Amino acid sequence: MGFFYKEDMNRRIFVLGMGSSGLAAAKKMKEMGNDVFVSEAEPENNVQSAIQQLLTLNIPFETGGHDEQIAGQCDMIVKSPGIPQNIPLLLNMRQKGIPIYSEIEVGSWYCRAPIIGITGTNGKSTTTTLVGELLKRKFAGVFVGGNLGIPFTACPDMPDQDVFVLEISSYQLENIEKFKPRVAVILNITPDHLNRHGTMDRYIAAKKRLLENQTAQDIVIYNNDDPLVVEITRDAKAHKVPFGLQNTNHVDLLIQDGILLHQKNKIIDLAQTPLAGLHNHYNIMAAVLCALYFDVAVQNIQSVLQSFQTLEHRIEYIGDLNGVQFYNDSKATNSASTIAALDRFEKPVVLLAGGMAKEDSFIHMRKLMRQKVKKVMLFGSSGKKIMSDLSPAVNVELYSTMKEALQAAIKIAETGDVILLSPMCASHDQFDNYIQRGIIFKQLVQNYIRQGKVR
Ligand code: ADP
Repeated sequence: MGFFYKEDMNRRIFVLGMGSSGLAAAKKMKEMGNDVFVSEAEPENNVQSAIQQLLTLNIPFETGGHDEQIAGQCDMIVKSPGIPQNIPLLLNMRQKGIPIYSEIEVGSWYCRAPIIGITGTNGKSTTTTLVGELLKRKFAGVFVGGNLGIPFTACPDMPDQDVFVLEISSYQLENIEKFKPRVAVILNITPDHLNRHGTMDRYIAAKKRLLENQTAQDIVIYNNDDPLVVEITRDAKAHKVPFGLQNTNHVDLLIQDGILLHQKNKIIDLAQTPLAGLHNHYNIMAAVLCALYFDVAVQNIQSVLQSFQTLEHRIEYIGDLNGVQFYNDSKATNSASTIAALDRFEKPVVLLAGGMAKEDSFIHMRKLMRQKVKKVMLFGSSGKKIMSDLSPAVNVELYSTMKEALQAAIKIAETGDVILLSPMCASHDQFDNYIQRGIIFKQLVQNYIRQGKVR
């Protein structure tokens, strides 16, 4: 073979992390004729199913720590996105000059089809899924994955796809070298993951790397209303395709009186799509520009937008109990996503929020809280801190668990109100992840609805 960069065989590869992307990269690189070793810090008991897969694949591994001697003899390290950059092993290997790559970098060595790379602080999964649905109307071989669902290197028939639609996180971008999307999409940038990146500047720099290998033959679709996004695209080499609602002079795609227009031609009345809320209109603009770039027919764009349902845990409607509506927005792990959720409702909101905060301050939320929120029921490890930031503006109560917060919310909610879980925080203090938090919330709500109990 050898028609791609670094597709040589017989390399010694040290894969760091036994999560789904580590396993996928290990399998792919072994298939390509390399000598692969997988290393995991967790003890054997916590990674049983990964071990089973490695045994089947005949790939050697270690658990409970990383052997620096083995790593030091390798040609490269493939790092899983969850692992911080500054663990001792990586600091030492960097000093030795051993290159460290992410799994999306590895995937790009084996990929011939164009890549759409979608990043941003919020909206990546929704937009990636929507772009996938749109492109499936035109192409048979559409791979949708990356940071969402299936890892890039796990695509079973890698070179033979028509197009790759990849959700890309800042962690994955930290360790690229040649990764280059034909179409880069940047949705928005607000504070997030600062505990891992250290500073906002470093977080922004990581996001900007999506554009670094693009050329004039590529395009970048970006949110022209977001000053940080505009800033990082300023010196982009790719052809620029802005979208937005505020400065529509130079955009091809815009929204006028609720109608999405492309070069003055109507695509759809946005009231016809289940993807409600201004934030989703931004996601739709980005996705439709991707579809138009790949010549998806307008009637196909219309029918996908008419039927596309909100993903689970993203302002997901659960049900109604005596005129009180319940929504699960467990995926809202930062304040920008909770702002999007509150903006979406006209009715008074009883908000359940809290968990492990990723931001230093929530004072900027006071104004919107005052406008939209009847009462905030806080829970989790950052509850007290959030309470002191919000309490001058809005009625706030503190509970130790989400279950107690919900119980209290149900007691005070009246017909016509919305009870919304949109935590603004990570879940790891009390749950495995946002999915578990959302599932438990839905079960609790459904129990109340089943019993028909308001108080
Ligand atoms: P990501 O994959 O970037 O986390 P999701 O589509 O899973 O994005 O949405 C995460 C959270 O952000 C949800 O609470 C969702 O309602 C909200 N959200 C989605 N799109 C946007 C957007 N464009 N701006 C702000 N918040 C958004």
